[in-house]
Amino acid sequence: MIKASGKETRGRGNAAAVVNAELKENGDTTACLLTTDLTISGKAAQFGRGVLADVATKFIGQFADRLEADVLSASSASAVAASEPASTPARTETPAESVDLLAVVAEPLAELGEDAKILAGGQSLVPMLSLRLAFFDHLIDISRLAEPKGIERRGDAFWIGAGTTDATVGTDPQVGTMVPLLTRVTPFVGHFQICNRGTLGGSMAHADPAAEYPTVALALDATMEAVSPHGRRDIAAADFFTEGIVNAVHRAAELIRSATSAASRG
Ligand SMILES: Cc1cc2nc3c(=O)[nH]c(=O)nc-3n(C[C@H](O)[C@H](O)[C@H](O)COP(=O)(O)OP(=O)(O)OC[C@H]3O[C@@H](n4cnc5c(N)ncnc54)[C@H](O)[C@@H]3O)c2cc1C
Repeated sequence: MIKASGKETRGRGNAAAVVNAELKENGDTTACLLTTDLTISGKAAQFGRGVLADVATKFIGQFADRLEADVLSASSASAVAASEPASTPARTETPAESVDLLAVVAEPLAELGEDAKILAGGQSLVPMLSLRLAFFDHLIDISRLAEPKGIERRGDAFWIGAGTTDATVGTDPQVGTMVPLLTRVTPFVGHFQICNRGTLGGSMAHADPAAEYPTVALALDATMEAVSPHGRRDIAAADFFTEGIVNAVHRAAELIRSATSAASRG
């Protein structure tokens, strides 16, 4: 039995579930029958039974896939261990190499020009595509790159990698202390699904005049770092947000790497 409960980030809704799993023999396989008792209130309760069932089926499918992969990798690892001599040293994880953003992102972006777009969280770009407001042939997906992500205090400044998600920005304790305005505005950015995927850099690049982060960047005199094969440049927020949705960075086909603000402001 699995019991779980949660609260919507803004505290307007609750969800609780009790999941019973019953295992039964099914020839050479084992069948698992799941029965879920779900109680839900708030905005999410407006979704119909069918939508909730679809989402739950997807989650269970993902859970089953991962469990299967874990079980198979564990059994193949123990098979390898059994066949290896006892003196074989344990395998160690190779640390992830940092990505050459220039070669992997900035150069193709500059080369493809209007035919390419960076995909970060996709929370603005994908709706634009589905509304046929954007047309291009290539997507450069930066969402799984180790860079440019992270949050650091750098001397008197506070640095946030452009690929850092809104959810991370909104819950990071350092941000809460050093740039509390960012923590305060994040719950107003869409809803938690948007915050889990959307990124600070995507919001800056999209530059929606109604968006929270660009407004905060202007209020705090933040600086955006942009990278292209021509080099890197720092752009003050006041110069960055001059052209609304299609801003200077898009036209220059640059990658936004980070945003920096003086610490303890706002
Ligand atoms: C239903 C809904 C509600 C929303 N509500 C709000 C809200 O209340 N407040 C708010 O502020 N926002 C809101 N948003 C927008 C959301 O915050 C987006 O996530 C954000 O604007 C874009 O971030 P992203 O990482 O998803 O970027 P993407 O959608 O991946 O990209 C957006 C644009 O930025 C470019 N881009 C992305 N990263 C970079 C980079 N590092 N360098 C250069 N270009 C880059 C892309 O090429 C694209 O043109 C909402 C979105 C949705 C779908």
